[in-house]
Amino acid sequence: MIQNLLETPKAFAAKAKKNHFVISFDAPKGTKKQGRINGNKIIWNIKIEDLFYDGSRLCDFIASELPDEVLKTTSFELKIKSNQANLNWSDFCLGWGLAHYQFTAYKPKAKITKPILILPKEADKKFVTSCLDAICLTRDLVNTPASDLGTDELAGVAKALAAKHKAKIQIIKGKKLEGDFPLIHAVGKASPRPPQLIDMKWGKPQHPKLTLVGKGIIYDTGGLNLKPGQFMRDMKKDMGGSAHVLGLASMIMSLDLPVQLRVLIPAAENSVAGNSFRPGDILNSRKGLTVEIGDTDAEGRLVVSDALTYACEDKPDLLVDFCTLTGAARVALGYEVPAFFTNRDDIMTPLMTQSPSVNDPVWPLPLYEGYNKNIEPAIADVLNDGLGRAGAIEAALFLQKFIEPQTPWIHVDCFAWEQNGKPGRPKGGADTGLRALFDFIQTRYN
Ligand SMILES: [Zn+2]
Repeated sequence: MIQNLLETPKAFAAKAKKNHFVISFDAPKGTKKQGRINGNKIIWNIKIEDLFYDGSRLCDFIASELPDEVLKTTSFELKIKSNQANLNWSDFCLGWGLAHYQFTAYKPKAKITKPILILPKEADKKFVTSCLDAICLTRDLVNTPASDLGTDELAGVAKALAAKHKAKIQIIKGKKLEGDFPLIHAVGKASPRPPQLIDMKWGKPQHPKLTLVGKGIIYDTGGLNLKPGQFMRDMKKDMGGSAHVLGLASMIMSLDLPVQLRVLIPAAENSVAGNSFRPGDILNSRKGLTVEIGDTDAEGRLVVSDALTYACEDKPDLLVDFCTLTGAARVALGYEVPAFFTNRDDIMTPLMTQSPSVNDPVWPLPLYEGYNKNIEPAIADVLNDGLGRAGAIEAALFLQKFIEPQTPWIHVDCFAWEQNGKPGRPKGGADTGLRALFDFIQTRYN
């Protein structure tokens, strides 16, 4: 769907579209309406600092102004003035491409026509297409209902991605999972769809080790601490962390970053059955710490902890996890800005300050040691829910207990859902922090 929306001039010439529009950014100052169509010329009052969003807005504007029949036979070309040539036109094209995103898997008759842009030579085609592919993969996975995306299906998506990029992949389940990853097993055992740990590896041994961990709760009922209806409604998105790391991995492999990549996804369904784990239970973990269950709805940190322990055993140069973990992170920062935590000061500042420049802001919260008292259990080593008000920090402190201090670590607490819909970002599954982390990783290792 997204693949053919940006054409190279050569591919376009071969198709010989009937009509051709030139988009010019010469709107006179004071033009009230942002866009205007004048013959075969589209005049758009672009904001230079807003190329990414303007790409989506302009694509939507053209789609709203021209009938489908015209859009199908027409191509659009940017006229870039030489004094604007050093601008990041890839950002603009990315925005344009994202305006095409719709999840239509369950509406086979839906036909959405959007304008096709000839990719300007100033844009980085490989980057734009890799990034669009990654974002679409992430959103498609989050949007797919749990009835069609179980643990096996999620592993199937990872296998397909591994095959595409010649990566190695191993799926751990059954008795081995039960013995070696007791927390993942405990959370997922009540579902008929068995819990598993997806382990994908790619890259050359001489490059630094980058490990990504993504929370893959394919559906979260809350377990015996059952969620009320309005909070369970969108819980197909509780595998959003795994969708983000698969998208990020897809981008890293497509663009051939010089890293030794590993992706770990603990995949499980938090279901209700006679053998569900219970509040008050004490569970063992891969690390050997015992975990007292305060709330079965705080299951994400359980499965992720076993994966983080496993990741640290391999001594990665950088460990990044993505989780749809806490409502508290939303209370702090809203739906669009993921909270991140890190155990390294030299990571915190560049990640925070660079992320707005790729239009994908993330913001740090502290691993404040004083709140460790909130996750002190009655009779075990650690408690899985917090007793204080800082839920996002308490969840991060819980995860930190499974991180080796010498491992540089970033934990991203994201929402993975767009509530209202905006240009380039329809209502439903959403990527937040994906491009910010890609940008950080690319800068760190290039
Ligand atoms: Zn939960």
